[in-house]
Amino acid sequence: MYDVVISGAGPSGSKCAEVLAKAGYKIALLEKDINWRKPCGGGIHHRAFSLVPKLRKLNIPKIKGIVMHSADYHKLEYELTGQKYGTVMDRLEFDNLMRNVAIDEGADLFNRTLSTDFIVKNKKKIGIKTKTPSGIKEYYGKLLIVADGMSSKLALKTGLRSKWKTEELGIAKCAIMKGDNQLDEEFIYTYFRPYKGYGWIFPLGNKKFNIGITTFGEDNFNYNLITIYNQFLNDPQIKEYIPDSNCKIIWSGAFPFPAQGVLEKSLYDDNLMLIGDTGGFVSPISGEGIHTSIISGKVSAEVAINSLQEEDFSRVYLKRYKVHPEIKKMGRNFKMKRSMIRFFYENNGENLNKLLSLAEKDPEFKNHVVDMFLSKSLPSQDFISKIKVVN
Ligand SMILES: Cc1cc2nc3c(=O)[nH]c(=O)nc-3n(C[C@H](O)[C@H](O)[C@H](O)COP(=O)(O)OP(=O)(O)OC[C@H]3O[C@@H](n4cnc5c(N)ncnc54)[C@H](O)[C@@H]3O)c2cc1C
Repeated sequence: MYDVVISGAGPSGSKCAEVLAKAGYKIALLEKDINWRKPCGGGIHHRAFSLVPKLRKLNIPKIKGIVMHSADYHKLEYELTGQKYGTVMDRLEFDNLMRNVAIDEGADLFNRTLSTDFIVKNKKKIGIKTKTPSGIKEYYGKLLIVADGMSSKLALKTGLRSKWKTEELGIAKCAIMKGDNQLDEEFIYTYFRPYKGYGWIFPLGNKKFNIGITTFGEDNFNYNLITIYNQFLNDPQIKEYIPDSNCKIIWSGAFPFPAQGVLEKSLYDDNLMLIGDTGGFVSPISGEGIHTSIISGKVSAEVAINSLQEEDFSRVYLKRYKVHPEIKKMGRNFKMKRSMIRFFYENNGENLNKLLSLAEKDPEFKNHVVDMFLSKSLPSQDFISKIKVVN
């Protein structure tokens, strides 16, 4: 019998396991395949460094800024202030780094262990049933944490939520490539599109980079991902940085992400919590979910520690997870970002084009735009009317 059984050893599940194991609890961390590279840009927010201190010891790119491009070729360059920097990593390396931190703290990681269902007794979920190469195995726990990503079958079996609709998702295709390029390795590059979506190039160092494109909302139906990905690779803006068309593809993949924000009504029940992508902890505008998923993993672990101490695993007790200030803050932030999407992509992204063209000419306006992207403030009426006038 474990104190906590966690399904999924991605960033959210591994962080949760680390915090709980460090506090002395017996943790089972179930993972279908530690050799699976999650399709991802691998862009890691500077805030993740305090949550994953091991990152500081690695020889990884120090990302100090972003270059944003509008669909009509305007540019906004922004540098982080102070000593802050983010990074970009290959997800295979990053996920295994986080798993190893959890193992070092004492969590038991079970690889090639696919969660298939809950074990239910007297209408209570008391464990997780899994398929492994040596047969079916069952893991019993006082608390169960669902962290197995956006396509989680367990999340659906909780009855807390239904399957995502296609228009509630972002759908992305990306690759890791290697070749001569003109990228400044201290910057990441994003490219807004005239539809709901954007492309990116994230330098990985040693001539390697992660390149990809996404659509979201109703434009998931209107655009073919492979077509727009190929168009993106041949876009003149991309050619500016990657003139070499013979770049070697090291890996490529495609995957969806939840783009609705935190599912506040579906985060917990008796004996269980949903974290990371499973709970919608992804920015609806940028698709960033690594550091926010890690935060949900940390907060759920802190609530679990209290729940284990008090021996209260009820839904009423676990509500503390949903109302935790850090979770509420992310919920608010994502709601704000969703409303920004409507504004940005009005008239085929015309507002985004105007935003970046005005920012190019006016440093004060640029500061407002940067604040808005960093979610410090919603666009003010004054700000919006400036763009409308130009329209
Ligand atoms: C194409 C793409 C690009 C992205 N780019 C970025 C980016 O640049 N920066 C950023 O911050 N975010 C990005 N994201 C979002 C980010 O990938 C996720 O938000 C983040 O990985 C969520 O972490 P998680 O631990 O909740 O879930 P996941 O990372 O999905 O981890 C889930 C884990 O559960 C395992 N698993 C799945 N099913 C089972 C099962 N049945 N049994 C056992 N184990 C199982 C999986 O193997 C995996 O290890 C991107 C997403 C996509 C799709």
